[in-house]
Amino acid sequence: FSFFEDGVYIPPDSIFEVAKNYWADADAQKINLGQGAYRDEFGQPWVLPCVRMAKQMLKEKEEQGHEYLPITGLTAFREKAVELVFSGSKALAEQRIASCQSLSGTGALHLTGFALRRSNPSAKTVYITDPTWPNHKLLFTSLGYEVKEVPYYRDGGFDYASYVAALREAEPMSVLVLHACAHNPTGCDPSKEEWKEIMSVIREKRLFPVIDSAYLGFNSGSVEDDAWLIRYIVDELDLEAAVCLSFAKNMGLYGERVGLVALVTKTPELAITMNSIIANVQRATISTPPLYGARIAATVLQSPELQAQWRSDLKLMSGRIRAMREKLYDELVRLRSPRDWSFIVKQSGMFGYTGLNARQITYLRDEHHIHMAVTGRISIAALNDRNVAHVAVALDQAVR
Ligand code: PMP
Repeated sequence: FSFFEDGVYIPPDSIFEVAKNYWADADAQKINLGQGAYRDEFGQPWVLPCVRMAKQMLKEKEEQGHEYLPITGLTAFREKAVELVFSGSKALAEQRIASCQSLSGTGALHLTGFALRRSNPSAKTVYITDPTWPNHKLLFTSLGYEVKEVPYYRDGGFDYASYVAALREAEPMSVLVLHACAHNPTGCDPSKEEWKEIMSVIREKRLFPVIDSAYLGFNSGSVEDDAWLIRYIVDELDLEAAVCLSFAKNMGLYGERVGLVALVTKTPELAITMNSIIANVQRATISTPPLYGARIAATVLQSPELQAQWRSDLKLMSGRIRAMREKLYDELVRLRSPRDWSFIVKQSGMFGYTGLNARQITYLRDEHHIHMAVTGRISIAALNDRNVAHVAVALDQAVR
């Protein structure tokens, strides 16, 4: 007998497999278009200048020690992160925002799902987009929700008609996961007009919006522009919502796991209650959150000089990604590729959704040492002046 007897092997997460294949590839020209992490023009991981400055400031301060943070995290970080997204809003002025530092965006989604189980056990269904970041399904399923997929993408773009039609059929009072901007993996966001229509259905159906905000500032270069949907929902529609922030991409703090969940509630009393529930749920899962990344993010957000540097770092990253989209597209046009690749410049954010099939993806890996997700998603951030022509030639050959 073994206590592990009924365990069933689960295949590894496919995106981490792509990275493994990449590292095992001995070719000098190999490229990893799999994992969504920013790379500089030399293809290297990039520590943002604002983060370098914050780390220097932290070093020069008195020894800060390694004591536990409060359960809900570093107060300065929480306050500044909430202010970043909600400054000037009625919800903030009326103290209707509960918040908690989380293990990056994933932890924020987890805390949200967990807390909603406590505050509204009758909400049993979570709607996600098809396709979406694969962890949405895994995460909410493991919290006991029934997860249902809503069609989102068709022929290189957002499938507005199918998406709205499916929402009209949704179970009322369910949970709905929205991507604040830079939809992962398709890079296709609804227009503002489409969002307004979508939100009217959400309001009618009394769905609870969980706004997954993993790319604020990273998409357009402006945090405010990328937070448009959040502010529309909270300010103009005056709805309750969860906002799940990640500082992985926009501050490059991936492995430090810096995030925040903010629950916008109808009344200040409910914010107090929800604060107590998220704290309790956090205690049950990780006890207290990690310190170093939150110190870095708080330092950046607190200092006007560092915050200005951050905003310029965001412009640089998003601008480089946009430039790479154009370069890749121009190269493919120059090669007279038989396929219409214009979706590359129409999509935005970190990813390109190529629609390549499994055979083409294997061909790119085996013949051109280009590694990408099985879904055909490519990380545009991994492209640079030195590899973009090679990638264009390979993509062109893959579709011929
Ligand atoms: N949501 C989406 C849509 C994402 O793409 C990501 C990052 N891959 C996350 C959430 C959260 O990532 P992290 O936990 O690293 O912040």
